[in-house]
Amino acid sequence: MTITDTPVDWHTRAKQLVFRTHAFIDGQATPSADGQTRATVNPATGQELAQIADCDERDVDRAVAAARRAFEDGRWSRRSPAERKVVLQRWAALILEHADELALLDSLDAGKLITDTTTGDVPGSAAIVRWYAEAIDKVYGEIAPTGPDALALVTRVPLGVVGAVVPWNFPLEMAIWKLAPALATGNSVVLKPAEESPLSALRVAELAVEAGLPDGVLNVVPGDGPVAGRALGLHQDVDVLTFTGSTAVGKLFLGYAAESNMKQVWLECGGKSANLVFADTADLDAAAEGVCAGIFSNQGQVCSANSRLVVQRSIKDELLDKVVERARGIVLGDPLDPASTMGPLVSDQQASRVLELLADGARTSRTLIGGGRAPGTPSPCFLQPTIFDDVPRDARIAQEEIFGPVLAVFGFDDEREALAIADDTAYGLAASVWSDSVARTHRVADRLHAGTVSINTVDMLDVLTPFGGFGQSGFGRDLSLHALDKFTGLKTTWYHHG
Ligand code: NAD
Repeated sequence: MTITDTPVDWHTRAKQLVFRTHAFIDGQATPSADGQTRATVNPATGQELAQIADCDERDVDRAVAAARRAFEDGRWSRRSPAERKVVLQRWAALILEHADELALLDSLDAGKLITDTTTGDVPGSAAIVRWYAEAIDKVYGEIAPTGPDALALVTRVPLGVVGAVVPWNFPLEMAIWKLAPALATGNSVVLKPAEESPLSALRVAELAVEAGLPDGVLNVVPGDGPVAGRALGLHQDVDVLTFTGSTAVGKLFLGYAAESNMKQVWLECGGKSANLVFADTADLDAAAEGVCAGIFSNQGQVCSANSRLVVQRSIKDELLDKVVERARGIVLGDPLDPASTMGPLVSDQQASRVLELLADGARTSRTLIGGGRAPGTPSPCFLQPTIFDDVPRDARIAQEEIFGPVLAVFGFDDEREALAIADDTAYGLAASVWSDSVARTHRVADRLHAGTVSINTVDMLDVLTPFGGFGQSGFGRDLSLHALDKFTGLKTTWYHHG
């Protein structure tokens, strides 16, 4: 065995980690104003990892003031895009240099598989930072087609102080989805990570300063949603609020903006995405693989999880046999063990929420596999992969986002019925379609009410394309050059030559 083949001892590495426990304000690790802390817990063991600053309104005020000072004096906002590019590229390189550390922080904090954080979350985050770094000095303004006696320039200007409030399911990546385009365009940011998963955000902010980001441009205020998150939403000096999280909390941010300074609000919220499998799919094994990946990845805690399988009746039994067989093969266990293929949910509270919906499923539908806590696992956060068949369209498990490893199955006879089932929720984030007919996939994709439709695969997303939804999945778009629209305003400068 060569040295590079030596398996990493993640438990030993975890013991060597030094957690950042203070807020990060104006380039400094800063205790909360009143010294309050809250525990962050490893859901795989139930053990406390660290006590983290529990920020309140005063801390948010300090962070916003630092961000405002930085924005107004131009230490970042007035640097050329090419200069910002260099700093962001260094930041991307530092993220990769500290890849194992950042991956471990997310795995410990949120119960995510180390095989996912090392191969997905962390390199994906670095790639997004690098992509926006490389893009930002290639974005041009416009010259309007005036007559010869005038020159009208249309430029994109940064908006000022951005508040970013993010969830725990991809702690580093969700933060980076906001930070990379917001910083590339010259804004200052105050980031509030989720209560459950503040560790990677605090560390990556420190790395940004090490890369050359001036103090005060990026601030992190860990804290309670209804306290620190609300304070950011209501702040009179925050210009834009970008949010990823539940639909219920997203709606609150619209209210906060209305009650305060009419800040722009961008919402990326929940989903109940459908996976449609038609009988003319030749490779049902690939479809079964996709169905499982679509709902069981990250323990189902994915906003665009394909939580509803909508399958043509003539192939339903055959497909379900394959899906159930794969679900039985899932290895529930320690997220730091590379042999595990599913870890715990993020918290006991989240597991209890999912268990409540499992009880509803058991009452209204037919359980094919799973249905409760996983026996013999080291914490109550481990739930069995669960599949319900014959789900009534109005059941809670058919309509509500579960955010756990729970698949609801529906049969259909024709395309019209498939579309009616797929579009029968308040959401519109994503959908997948399996069929070997190009005409059908094109027709169905066109009709589906979803921000992203994946054909003969599931849940595709990439920095190259916008990600976001319709309906109560929100209206913001993360990723791609379109994300720059959220963090810049169009400014017209009209020269009159009289
Ligand atoms: P959540 O809405 O409970 O929390 C998200 C963030 O909002 C957290 O930082 C939280 O502290 C904060 N918050 C909570 N209550 C608040 C309040 N009263 N005022 C201000 N801020 C508050 O969501 P969650 O449980 O952390 O994450 C899961 C949700 O995120 C799911 O609904 C999922 O679909 C959604 N999500 C969406 C996307 C997307 O891009 N559409 C991506 C990932 C997750």
